[in-house]
Amino acid sequence: MRVLVFNAGSSSLKFGVFDGDARIFKGSFDRFRDDGCDFVFCDPTETRGRAPHGDLDTAIAAVPAVLADHGIDGLDAIGHRIAHGGTEFAKPALLDAECIARIEALIPLAPLHNPANLAAVQMARRIWPELPQLGVFDTSFHLTNPARATTYAVPAEWRAAGLRRFGFHGTSHKYVALRAAKEIGAPLSDLRIISVHLGNGASVCAIQRGESLDSSMGLTPLEGLVMGTRSGDVDPGAFGFLHRQLGLSIPQIEHALYHDSGLKALTGSSDMRDVEDRAAAGDAEAQAAIHLYAYRARKYVGAYAAAMGGVDAIVFTGGIGENSASMRRRICDGLDFMGLDLDHDRNAHVDLADYAAPQIQAYGSRVRVIVTETAEQLMIAREVAASLARPAITPRPIPIAVSGRHVHLSPEAVEALFGRGYQLTIDRQLRQPGNWSAVERVAVEGPKGTLHDVAILGPLRKRTQTEVSRTDSFALGIDVPVRDSGQLDGTPRVRLIGPAGTFDTDGLIVAARHIHTNPQDAVAMGLSDGQVVQVEVTGGTGRGVTFSRTLVRVAPNAFTEMHIDTDEANAAGIVGAADGALVPGIAGAPAA
Ligand code: ADP
Repeated sequence: MRVLVFNAGSSSLKFGVFDGDARIFKGSFDRFRDDGCDFVFCDPTETRGRAPHGDLDTAIAAVPAVLADHGIDGLDAIGHRIAHGGTEFAKPALLDAECIARIEALIPLAPLHNPANLAAVQMARRIWPELPQLGVFDTSFHLTNPARATTYAVPAEWRAAGLRRFGFHGTSHKYVALRAAKEIGAPLSDLRIISVHLGNGASVCAIQRGESLDSSMGLTPLEGLVMGTRSGDVDPGAFGFLHRQLGLSIPQIEHALYHDSGLKALTGSSDMRDVEDRAAAGDAEAQAAIHLYAYRARKYVGAYAAAMGGVDAIVFTGGIGENSASMRRRICDGLDFMGLDLDHDRNAHVDLADYAAPQIQAYGSRVRVIVTETAEQLMIAREVAASLARPAITPRPIPIAVSGRHVHLSPEAVEALFGRGYQLTIDRQLRQPGNWSAVERVAVEGPKGTLHDVAILGPLRKRTQTEVSRTDSFALGIDVPVRDSGQLDGTPRVRLIGPAGTFDTDGLIVAARHIHTNPQDAVAMGLSDGQVVQVEVTGGTGRGVTFSRTLVRVAPNAFTEMHIDTDEANAAGIVGAADGALVPGIAGAPAA
């Protein structure tokens, strides 16, 4: 599929054409002024010069002729980078009138970025009315962030008005995490990655098992790292102070934090190349700025390693992350306490051609360090193609089963809890063939309280797994992660209590909702193993709940049903039985 990708800002328009993963054209119109703008085209031969376009609209209007001049035709779709998708856009969305209105409603959250993005959408819809146009949102990747990462501790009224952390650069962080996992040769779902995107805008993202856990930008792209012209973290008390001491208004302070801060404020230049050159020539201001820049980035790396309980790989990207060996070194030096040891030679000689992702850690370093070009446009093209290529799903009700808290025991756990050689007694067979519940029960003890009478489900497993609801996690007093069954590395420990003794083990999880199905039913419903779908609850008390991010697990002989936990059932108003309906189209996206 041939996709034209637009990344429109207030002062520049970047665009690219992709055929599958192959980039066949890259272009930009930059620095719009009354007398025109600069252009760069690359097909892959590069040409540069001045063009007469003074604003975004005229620049977009020129794109069809540019593509025709380079012999590019046969476009199938258009993808637009959209900065802010709020909480509603977790996936790429078809840019119809309703969708555009929803993005317009988000302008207060991104007053600089969304209007430019939307102007490009409107113009492109006029130029290519026959092509499907999709928005890919910078915020979508971070919608997996837990509330503890997204909540500001501010009055409830403010939070109700929408004040929360979102995070940006999501397409870049997602792309580099996927690229790093491929380079490492491990599934993304097994890795804890810290992605360090250092461009004019800059952010760090903690990616735990393929999902964004936290990132350094917040409500707006101002929070976090020191950037080209943006301040990054500043005490919000600064607003009152500056108002009282200097008489500045809120718009004046906000403008300065976006446009006259960061490297520009510290050194007079927002461009890291200038700052590094001046620092090397002995300029004390530039040296101090570099120290501050690296220190802030390193603080976030440390924080996210702690947040994830460790880190497997750090990935550098963005203009500075890709090109500045000295900045990478400043950020990494001294992190040997957490198992990171850089190879200075490799760091000094990275070649990023053809989407390469070289590893630059020293031999034996526990943490890998990877550098790769951020390919946001490629990622947008991929997401657009994947959204449009999705197979139609045949509507068919899926029975929903509600799982109460339970444990799966290992043979060692059975011995510890019930005595040597003890065999559990089967009480009844479950609907999944070969699975049963036992007559025996155990207690699960946490630092806050104990859950009694917890069911044991068989058959025995290699590793003990304890599944509780989020409500239970508070009764226990343990922060319990949401995990797919069997993904137990790094999960909290808990004490199980049986009649013959206790068993301390990790494996305490809130089970991620999922659909069990067999290959025949999967084909009939257009599903595949590992796909992530949305399911609307159609029975129950009709509270109108749709569950997103539901994992499909296909196994021979599985009985087709969806498993949710008691909290989810309560939220959906399910009492007894209910059915679910797959939500077709873009929402039922395959897992990335
Ligand atoms: P954007 O966020 O606008 O896409 P980029 O990712 O292109 O920005 O990053 C621009 C930044 O990268 C600038 O500060 C620029 O100075 C810096 N940069 C580019 N090349 C180098 C280099 N060789 N050494 C240091 N910094 C570099």
